[in-house]
Amino acid sequence: MKDCEYQQISPGAAPPPASPGARRLGPDAHPGPGPGPPQPAAEPRWSSSGSGSGSIRRRPRRKWEVFPGRNRFYCGGRLMLAGHGGVFALTLLLILTTTVLFFVFDCPFLARQLTLAIPIIAAILFFFVMSCLLQTSFTDPGILPRATVCEAAALEKQIDNTGSSTYRPPPRTREVMINGQVVKLKYCFTCKMFRPPRTSHCSVCDNCVERFDHHCPWVGNCVGRRNYRFFYAFILSLSFLTAFIFACVVTHLTLRSQGSNFLSTLKETPASVLELVICFFSIWSILGLSGFHTYLVASNLTTNEDIKGSWSNKRGGEASVNPYSHKSVITNCCAVLCGPLPPSLIDRRGFVQSDTVLPSPIRSNEPACGAKPDASMVGGHP
Ligand SMILES: [Zn+2]
Ligand SMILES: [Zn+2]
Repeated sequence: MKDCEYQQISPGAAPPPASPGARRLGPDAHPGPGPGPPQPAAEPRWSSSGSGSGSIRRRPRRKWEVFPGRNRFYCGGRLMLAGHGGVFALTLLLILTTTVLFFVFDCPFLARQLTLAIPIIAAILFFFVMSCLLQTSFTDPGILPRATVCEAAALEKQIDNTGSSTYRPPPRTREVMINGQVVKLKYCFTCKMFRPPRTSHCSVCDNCVERFDHHCPWVGNCVGRRNYRFFYAFILSLSFLTAFIFACVVTHLTLRSQGSNFLSTLKETPASVLELVICFFSIWSILGLSGFHTYLVASNLTTNEDIKGSWSNKRGGEASVNPYSHKSVITNCCAVLCGPLPPSLIDRRGFVQSDTVLPSPIRSNEPACGAKPDASMVGGHP
């Protein structure tokens, strides 16, 4: 598998972007301020307040408690979810309801009349679907930590220096070469950095996400570099589970109605009818989505790039090819689904290294420029 070539080609006069620590230039490289190499875990500081001898000791705060995005955290920051989880709850409800009804009302009859393999296959598919869904939903999708005040200030200085004319504001874009293709990097005004290639800012979660695919309310999370494979496995296995349950329920109803009226059989088994309706109306969208993502995986594209037509030949009349594609369907599939999973860059469980107890946001916790940086939110999480 070849590595993507990634060189910054402009602005000419500008020095390389300030970054804590040297960085490998590759498709994973971050052009602007961002996470440096993993920091050794620092001892948490216990803040104290109060007057005289009766000082109040407060517990050290973890970084997830002051996280600037709109995510929600559970289990002490181990699990994370997007802000609005209502649709995610509906997904869980639909899958659980359909499967439980199937196991209670259809499986005993089918196991008796046909084979025991039916409930076994359904159980395996169900556990696979649920594990993929939960991994997609509760995993960091590849959020990039926002720049600290010092990093943002250093970058602003660089941008100001690149302005050739005092009347025109300096450009907020940069260009890099990736496999012979010029790729524009946009500046994120919220995260205060140039977004690395394929990164986009999710307006729902308010984070920049690496290899951003889309924000999926059904799984309650962004789909990005770190959870795309789970998302793909989820929709693919859900297609199989839905088709399997649908076929089994139809078989159940057909066998039951032999020698009697089909309509009266439907009246006798309202649970099976409900399963049939849920499966019938959901299978088309799930199958369509699986097919679309199979095409994206085979072409090493993201939904975001496909919708924007980033590498479409029609765009502006200029011929451009996807620089991330390995020109082979198998290699693309391996790269997207089996490539190494990068570590989470938001050190959610790390401690905020500050003596000041502040409610939020994290900005006010950062030290003045020149002071020793505290690695808050930028520490690489091994
Ligand atoms: Zn951003
Ligand atoms: Zn999102």
